[in-house]
Amino acid sequence: MSNLLEVRNLKKYFPIKGGFFNQTVAYVKAVDDVSFYIKSGETLGIVGESGCGKSTTGRAVLRLHEPTAGEVIFDGIDIPKLDKEKLRIKRRDMQLIFQDPYSSLNPRMTVGDIIGEPLEIHENLKGTDKTDRVKELLNLVGLSPYHVRRYPHEFSGGQRQRIGIARAIALKPKFIVCDEAVSALDVSIQAQIINLFQELQEKLDLTYMFISHDLSVVKHISNRISVMYLGTMVEMAESDRLFENPVHPYTQALLSAIPIAEPDNEKQRIILEGDVPSPVNPPKGCVFHTRCKYCMDICKEEKPKFRDIGDSHYVACHLNE
Ligand code: SF4
Repeated sequence: MSNLLEVRNLKKYFPIKGGFFNQTVAYVKAVDDVSFYIKSGETLGIVGESGCGKSTTGRAVLRLHEPTAGEVIFDGIDIPKLDKEKLRIKRRDMQLIFQDPYSSLNPRMTVGDIIGEPLEIHENLKGTDKTDRVKELLNLVGLSPYHVRRYPHEFSGGQRQRIGIARAIALKPKFIVCDEAVSALDVSIQAQIINLFQELQEKLDLTYMFISHDLSVVKHISNRISVMYLGTMVEMAESDRLFENPVHPYTQALLSAIPIAEPDNEKQRIILEGDVPSPVNPPKGCVFHTRCKYCMDICKEEKPKFRDIGDSHYVACHLNE
């Protein structure tokens, strides 16, 4: 499988304004030198605590946030270098699904208009041609064609997310960033929506970047998983490998916090001391060193490289050098 997306040294800093002249006084380093790839047809899960930069990474890849630095090579094209018109055309292939389907759906538009809008703008579809396509899409996401005339408030949370998915696949994209796409749903509905994502991936040959704070959700859908901490990637591996053999101390702590249903299989929860430092002033060296029980002198000085330790298992930790 070839890589559909290659991200190299991506940075996204948000300026903080202050002072008498409202100058830039500091930067929030939301994403700080992140590199990864996603193969065609696979799902890369991105996990980490809230504020770790995973959503910003997704948005910077789609250029909904303009990257501060780095390359985002999608389908052979460097997305940050595209002019506005070329980006608009390329965006058809790259879509985003939000966490809160309700806030992303205009309450004054019918489902037919919501899903049909991109078809009208990009494919100039109108009238019955548009309605027929919308009905096909509704069918594809498990809704009924008669829903076309209804409004978002008439649907449950799970159904609204299906509408959001129908809109995202309307233009037959290759790649979708799912940003906490099931986090607002009940557990039983989460499973249904995840199954729908998997069905659509097979039918439409989709590639996903699946962002979530919930490791068990990410494990279920992802071929590979990447773990983020304070704007950086600390570990990336095949899902099974990451769960069986987590190498980075932060990944080990995250995994130890997942409850398991087998009473005999007791595992030791690793409690991390202290809080996540501010992304305005991240620690020197390894960003995790202020909370790591294995911290060595070198960790406070030198940033560990994100290295392949074998079988495409990447880790940024001096313990593995
Ligand atoms: Fe811990 Fe050092 Fe590894 Fe960072 S580099 S995770 S501080 S051992």
